[in-house]
Amino acid sequence: MNNKTVLVIQAHPDDTEIFCSGTLALLKEKSFKIVIATMTPGGMGGVTHDEAGTAEIRKKEAALAAEVLEADYFCLEQRDGYVFDNTEARVKVTALIRKVKADIVLTHLPFDYHPDHRATSSIVEAGTILATLPNVPTDETPVKATPLLYYTSPFGFTDNMGRGIPDPSFFIDITSTFEKKKIMLAFHNSQKQVMKLMFKMDDFFGDMSDSDKRLGHMAGVKYAEAFWQNTGAGFLKEPLIQKTLRDFIPVANTIQGDKK
Ligand SMILES: [Zn+2]
Repeated sequence: MNNKTVLVIQAHPDDTEIFCSGTLALLKEKSFKIVIATMTPGGMGGVTHDEAGTAEIRKKEAALAAEVLEADYFCLEQRDGYVFDNTEARVKVTALIRKVKADIVLTHLPFDYHPDHRATSSIVEAGTILATLPNVPTDETPVKATPLLYYTSPFGFTDNMGRGIPDPSFFIDITSTFEKKKIMLAFHNSQKQVMKLMFKMDDFFGDMSDSDKRLGHMAGVKYAEAFWQNTGAGFLKEPLIQKTLRDFIPVANTIQGDKK
């Protein structure tokens, strides 16, 4: 029986559903405990309510989506649009990693297109590295090992300037969990109007499906999600997601770090 925990920390409600919920559903099938957190409640992502009202609506949407995977949902209550890497934010991330005893942490790529996503990536990287250290001030006990750190794909598969990005460490074929992903995403109904306003996106849910289809095309399957593992000096390098989901890594892709 697997007793490992995967913690996703992304900037806004709906990011996790868009970027990695198909893979989370597969990890859930492998008995991982799933925890979803957002740095902000997404208060700026509304057109019918003010910031506080929108935040309440979006936290409810995120919690309902998380329930599909029997996942706990946490909001770290930073302000949407104004996420900064600072001491308070890092401590909150470390505290959450300790509270849920995360073995794996997922966040945005450091060169994602969205400023809040980039700040979140930096905060989460630092908060993860600090999670074992007893001098870092939280009420929770330090974790025994630094969690493995993975990054999800930026929307559009480009950096913040629209340029190409390095190849992912691996793709995951999410064709079998794609319907579950759509169910999770559908809870974020408030975002339809916002996406229309911001990106002239008339079909938010359809465009998200197209994105998975595009990644699937790159991977040689119907629908896929893409991941990078941080194998830098600050992190352990066990390819745990790759090993656990090896049957879902398209054959064209190598399992980085796994010399089987
Ligand atoms: Zn976002």
